[in-house]
Amino acid sequence: MDLDPSGHDAADPLAPFRDRFSPAPGVVAYLDGNSLGRPPAATAERIAAFVRDEWGARLIRGWDEGWWETPTTLGDRLGALALGAGPGQVVLADSTTVLLYKLARAAVAARPGRTEIVVDTRDFPTDRYLLGGIAAERGLTLRPITTDPAAGVTPSQIADVVGPSTALVSLSHVAYWSGWRADMEQITGIAHDAGALVLWDLSHSVGSVPLELDGWGADLAAGCSYKYLNGGPGAPAFAYARRDLLPSLNQPVQGWTGRRDPFAMAPGYDPEPGVRRLLSGTPPVLGLLPLTVSLEMLAEAGVDAVRAKSEKLTEYVIALVDARLAPFGVTIGSPRDVAHRGGHVTLRVPGARELVTGMQERGVIPDFREPDGIRIGPAPLSTSFTEVRDGLAVLEELLSAG
Ligand SMILES: *Cc1c(COP(=O)(O)O)cnc(C)c1O
Repeated sequence: MDLDPSGHDAADPLAPFRDRFSPAPGVVAYLDGNSLGRPPAATAERIAAFVRDEWGARLIRGWDEGWWETPTTLGDRLGALALGAGPGQVVLADSTTVLLYKLARAAVAARPGRTEIVVDTRDFPTDRYLLGGIAAERGLTLRPITTDPAAGVTPSQIADVVGPSTALVSLSHVAYWSGWRADMEQITGIAHDAGALVLWDLSHSVGSVPLELDGWGADLAAGCSYKYLNGGPGAPAFAYARRDLLPSLNQPVQGWTGRRDPFAMAPGYDPEPGVRRLLSGTPPVLGLLPLTVSLEMLAEAGVDAVRAKSEKLTEYVIALVDARLAPFGVTIGSPRDVAHRGGHVTLRVPGARELVTGMQERGVIPDFREPDGIRIGPAPLSTSFTEVRDGLAVLEELLSAG
């Protein structure tokens, strides 16, 4: 691959999108779009207009004019655009942690008599912690699998651990550390053959790799909207539940919003038949506004074009590392095969923490991940090839200065 970025930028059909993000003064290279996406410039005005014209002018009437439906209208849009999910199966609410908890808890209850939850010991901490909590609460056992740190979960690892005791398999589709992309369709099929359900964390997939949840037979999924979806810090998360599973899913946070006919204020909890049963409290309408803006942008760009650029960006990162940084002991902690790779590349190098601090002081923003990882997450809509080259050139300078 050509190490000169100019040809790649000139040939990039998504290049014009970069100018539609709010400027970031002093930032030479933003390589952390996988942790917090940049705001589209239009987001600020959209929020101001909402406060002025909707909240300010419509007041409480706004709830009857579309706000109440936001979790599902936006959920359907996200489902169609980025999840491969038909309508009536996606909501936006809560945080990823809370939605994973609600789904996992509902899943184990839907598999009575089964006692095990399969968990990846290298999964993102929140997933491991909440599954541990559910196991303790429900008298279940965690069945750990340990994956290759520079790769991730394979179908055969799952085939080895699932069986008649398995209630739930919980995995990340793209691993937060290595960027490994799991084979969702095959793993789901293996778990289904054993009678288990599968819960997928899509935090590092959504808006970066195309998903076909309906087509792959997925059961349950949740993920963040503030990473590749540019929903803003702490933006509400999304949950997917396959339509035919919904009647058997009883999530534990039984609030009024998930109840059938909530304004009847009636006694007793009687869940909505549809996907709104995953909700608990008042929809976070204001918090979801930035996502409406970035979904418009993603629709315009197209998820397949985003993935095509992402593949090329991560390939470029690997080519630069091999050519310029390998002599300093930097290795690739991510899959080299694009078929197994998500949207980021993790570099392994001794002293990674100090190097990341040095990069940040020079306006280059990746992130550090214990113990020796520098994650490079070039969000396709907001990152140029030149930016990637400039960012890694700063790392090279730091390494050559010792
Ligand atoms: C970022 C991330 C989360 C974050 O969950 P929050 O509830 O938003 O803090 C969860 N899971 C994975 C895999 C992540 O990468």
